[in-house]
Amino acid sequence: MTAASAKTFAAVLTPPARGAIATVAVRGQAAVVWSDRFFTSFSKVPLCQAEVGRILVGQWQAEEEELGEELVVAKLAEDYVEIHCHGGVQASRRIVKHLESVGCEIGTWQQWTRREAADAIVAEAQIALPEAATQQAALHLIDQAAGALSHRVSAIVRDIEDGNFEIAQQQIAQLLRFAPFGQHLTRPWSVVLAGPPNVGKSSLLNKMLGYDRAIVLDMPGTTRDVLHATTALDGWPVQFSDTAGIRLSDDQVEQAGILKAKAALEQADAVLVLHDATNLRPHELDDSLKQLPAALHVVNKIDLANDLQLPEGGEMLATSAVTGQGVPELISAIVTQLVPVRPDVGQAIPFTLRQLDHLEQAQQLLQNQLPAPASQRLSDLLNLTSFPADNS
Ligand code: GDP
Ligand code: ZN
Repeated sequence: MTAASAKTFAAVLTPPARGAIATVAVRGQAAVVWSDRFFTSFSKVPLCQAEVGRILVGQWQAEEEELGEELVVAKLAEDYVEIHCHGGVQASRRIVKHLESVGCEIGTWQQWTRREAADAIVAEAQIALPEAATQQAALHLIDQAAGALSHRVSAIVRDIEDGNFEIAQQQIAQLLRFAPFGQHLTRPWSVVLAGPPNVGKSSLLNKMLGYDRAIVLDMPGTTRDVLHATTALDGWPVQFSDTAGIRLSDDQVEQAGILKAKAALEQADAVLVLHDATNLRPHELDDSLKQLPAALHVVNKIDLANDLQLPEGGEMLATSAVTGQGVPELISAIVTQLVPVRPDVGQAIPFTLRQLDHLEQAQQLLQNQLPAPASQRLSDLLNLTSFPADNS
């Protein structure tokens, strides 16, 4: 606990959205006394006399108000009260205003989380959890909220204090291997479909999504803008972007679409470069598609091509967006590219830019300065479990 948390603090923990209930949490020495100013339980037991763990139903009302709100208050510790009121923003805002009027400090749910969490990494995990799009992503964040990364980082700090720099370096390298994966626990992987018009990009996307998300027309140049669709592949959140076909074009609208497509390509974690099995001319590909490191080359419309000869050398997948042939294999190839090593349950995984940045700097320092690195600077960099001085 920091000195600041001695002050009584309240926050609305639920999102500002439509729903049946909202929750206001109050922590601090005055939490019970201040709540008792506004809350009268139907059983007439005041919170100050209720035992810890007691849940009371009653009325919340400020002196000047004519109407009170019927709600539920839980006394979860001698210094911790949770108020469950009607949903939406107004009911909870009113309660927070009352508490503020008697001297309570008010903050956001993120500030609340930082005050309550065991350490800064645990707080980051709790704040990141609502961003997890799939259960699998959430489970890895729950591991970090339970302390997996905090414990590992603390062990590395001890290694550094004991002068075991090479062990520390190995441990950091292992963490960094999972860092790209960790960044995607809160942000979907990006997969872009590219290739000339009419090759079947939109059709293949629809087949992978399992429903009709993109417009499919029998005319080149239909998908003018970049179209996004998010789904889960093998339990991992993936955002597909269907781009305008990349080719030379006189049509200005289409050209704008091509520019957006090229921007999407540069940020992609994987690019599916589609080729037409009935018209296989990979050498004519736009230069921007030839040099992509994250490219998976896919020959589509194989249902139309008898005895198809795939070009030698480069690996190519063959699909039909109409029959679905090759689509499961394509999905596994995408997943393998995005998640080459799947971390075990309980594995320590860096998942924020702050963690990644500090670990990379520490690794750089170790690489440059072994066998006698500046250990104070290293300890500072790896002091990731401490809250930064400005804890807001
Ligand atoms: P895009 O411009 O690359 O997005 O291509 P579309 O998905 O709009 O498809 C263009 C045309 O090719 C449409 O008529 C599709 O029905 C057809 N098509 C797409 N994929 C296949 C396929 O695998 N087999 C066959 N037979 N037709 C396909
Ligand atoms: Zn299309």
